[in-house]
Amino acid sequence: MFISAKGITKSFGNLEVLKDIDITIDKGNIVAIIGPSGSGKTTLLRCLNALEMPEKGTITFDDNFEIDFAQKPKKSVIKTLRLKSGMVFQSYNLFPHKTALQNVTEGPLYVQKKNRQVVNELARQLLDKVGLADKLNLYPHQLSGGQQQRVGIARALAIQPELMLFDEPTSALDPELVGEVLKVMKDLANEGWTMVIVTHELKFAEQVADKVLFMDNGVVVEEGPPEQVLKNPLEERTRQFIQRIM
Ligand code: ADP
Repeated sequence: MFISAKGITKSFGNLEVLKDIDITIDKGNIVAIIGPSGSGKTTLLRCLNALEMPEKGTITFDDNFEIDFAQKPKKSVIKTLRLKSGMVFQSYNLFPHKTALQNVTEGPLYVQKKNRQVVNELARQLLDKVGLADKLNLYPHQLSGGQQQRVGIARALAIQPELMLFDEPTSALDPELVGEVLKVMKDLANEGWTMVIVTHELKFAEQVADKVLFMDNGVVVEEGPPEQVLKNPLEERTRQFIQRIM
């Protein structure tokens, strides 16, 4: 097993949003997280790279890294965890006053302190990979939502993470722009990237996911291959959710 999160527990004030969640991810696998709004999907994803700090729980990578949130992890350990995963946000979160290229080079240059020439070359390659080779010097407001999200994906890849995290990456997009972003994600899946995707795109989950997790009310209600969870769920709660959104 590649990545394992155990006992992840997170509250906001009195509201326990994640209740002792366990999740495992095999190398090269795609895990899709589905569930009703407010069930804790985004919070779980953000806990996986310590954008939210759980009160309890551990995350291990490949037997060579462990973070134990109950033990107040050191800043350096949190930084190491963050560099292991690239996050793609629902609303892109690009720097508005930086070009596509500068958005992609930011992390490797200033967080990882890599050489500028090397980083520029890497960023060009990544923007080419997501189909934006001719948009390097444009600013976010000069790009469509789908193009901005593809910059977001290139930026997440630029730190050369071990895991890619996607938080509803297409839900802010006009319907005609969803396909271009899903295509980039399918390409990454085919290249063997390990990915966790919070999504409402059940068709997409069915096509690419190795495992689907259905969350409700801060717990994983059911997990299994897409043919089970999406087509023949074992749990009544899963069945009701799938019927509602299909
Ligand atoms: P989902 O992604 O499934 O829609 P979220 O993880 O966004 O669910 O939210 C789970 C619950 O946590 C919701 O009740 C939400 O209102 C609450 N929540 C999320 N983020 C915060 C926050 N920063 N402060 C307070 N409550 C929050």
